[in-house]
Amino acid sequence: MNGSPRLTGEAGRAAVLVVGLGVSGLAAVRYLRNRGWSVAVSDRRPAAELEDLFPRLKSFGVVEIETGGHSPGFFVNRQLIVVSPGVPLDLPPLERARRAGVEIIGELELACREFRPPLIGVTGTNGKSTTVTLLGEIFAAAGLRAFVGGNLGRPAVEMGEGEYDLAVLELSSFQLESIHKFHPRVAVMLNLTPDHQDRYPDLAAYLAAKTAISRNQRREDFLLLNLDDPHLAAHGRALAARRAAGDLLPLVAWFSLEQEVACGAGWREGKISLRLPPESGVRGGEFDAPQMKLPGNHNRSNALAALLAAWLWGVEEEKIRQALASFSGIAHRLEFVGEVDGVAWYNDSKATNLDAVVKAVKSFDRPLVVLLGGHDKGADFGSLARLLSRRRGRVIAFGAAGKKIAAQLPGLVVESPAAGLREAVARARAVARRGDVILLAPGCASFDEFSSYRERGAAFRRLVEKN
Ligand code: ADP
Repeated sequence: MNGSPRLTGEAGRAAVLVVGLGVSGLAAVRYLRNRGWSVAVSDRRPAAELEDLFPRLKSFGVVEIETGGHSPGFFVNRQLIVVSPGVPLDLPPLERARRAGVEIIGELELACREFRPPLIGVTGTNGKSTTVTLLGEIFAAAGLRAFVGGNLGRPAVEMGEGEYDLAVLELSSFQLESIHKFHPRVAVMLNLTPDHQDRYPDLAAYLAAKTAISRNQRREDFLLLNLDDPHLAAHGRALAARRAAGDLLPLVAWFSLEQEVACGAGWREGKISLRLPPESGVRGGEFDAPQMKLPGNHNRSNALAALLAAWLWGVEEEKIRQALASFSGIAHRLEFVGEVDGVAWYNDSKATNLDAVVKAVKSFDRPLVVLLGGHDKGADFGSLARLLSRRRGRVIAFGAAGKKIAAQLPGLVVESPAAGLREAVARARAVARRGDVILLAPGCASFDEFSSYRERGAAFRRLVEKN
């Protein structure tokens, strides 16, 4: 969309093609149409699955619709292609269009082109939604109008539809793959552990995708990194050294639960300390840590990241503490469902990778019955064995990954794998003893049985509450 726009495209073809009709794809269509662009859409799913969307597309004035796959001919002769986060960027028709000179961007990039409130971007393997939601609460307490969205909830293009003082965006590595100009004033990287092994060849490639968050940052910007994460510590130290040597890179500010930080925020022995160098233009501080309702050290780490970002933004200590203390978490993330006959049930349906499972397991002192299973993303469940044994954890394996889990965790899996979630809940109920915690932390995607982790979490709640 650089240069003068050709709103109607060539030879009756729409100028812009939106690939993928998920929430963000549809938001992009609406955004573009509201700005007068002609838009075509292409989705891999067959027409029968997309039927519900046709009236909406029609009301937006979209006439060129490709379903059931992506053909190269449909992708060329466009001025711009906007790709949804779930769509791989190396799709052959995209490659061809790219070679033919078509500009290809993501919905996030589209959002940042025209309308730019100052941005905070949050990425990492786990904890993004929690941290972004917390930041939203902190800014609300401070009386600032913050748009909160991105990969979570509202698509980023919707920032253009209101008046905001700033935007807090949750960014997946997929979204970060397709940015060119996206430029956050404060970028936060929470952690980096294996996930999406089906999409990235190795951890280095995954890190490279995530580090794109700071690609366009300048010397006056901030990059907040978790010092307790070895990959991020190494990444940040290298960046800080280059900045010290004069490179135009952001100031690296650390957050840590374990170590003293010379620049950033620490949380030790009930105290928060903030240390910032004069070049940051922000003062330091020290205060009592808030009492948080959220369980687990990992949530403390998320809270510390949010606290540091808000502090750098100039929010007062009192407002930050108030928001952190009152935050009770979001659904499907270590969500307490209820206690029945002395057994507590927790829904962590969003724990779709092993690090999230590890953090969930570590959040409890009581004996555990863990429901593991679903659509496998290539994880090595055997790596959980020691932790589960130490924590008196037993496993109910279920769903498509059930057999693999049972094979990788011999001795820990109770009986043979359950076919689905319903059966897994029934078995958990049968084997749990008074004082146990039953934890749905599946370590897998949900697609073998459900359309999303939300649907899986809601089904779990219903199954628990039905009793
Ligand atoms: P994301 O948006 O990155 O997926 P969420 O806040 O939705 O993150 O949490 C996803 C899962 O990861 C949940 O199971 C949650 O309990 C767990 N989790 C949250 N924060 C962290 C963290 N800092 N490290 C590891 N796991 C975490």
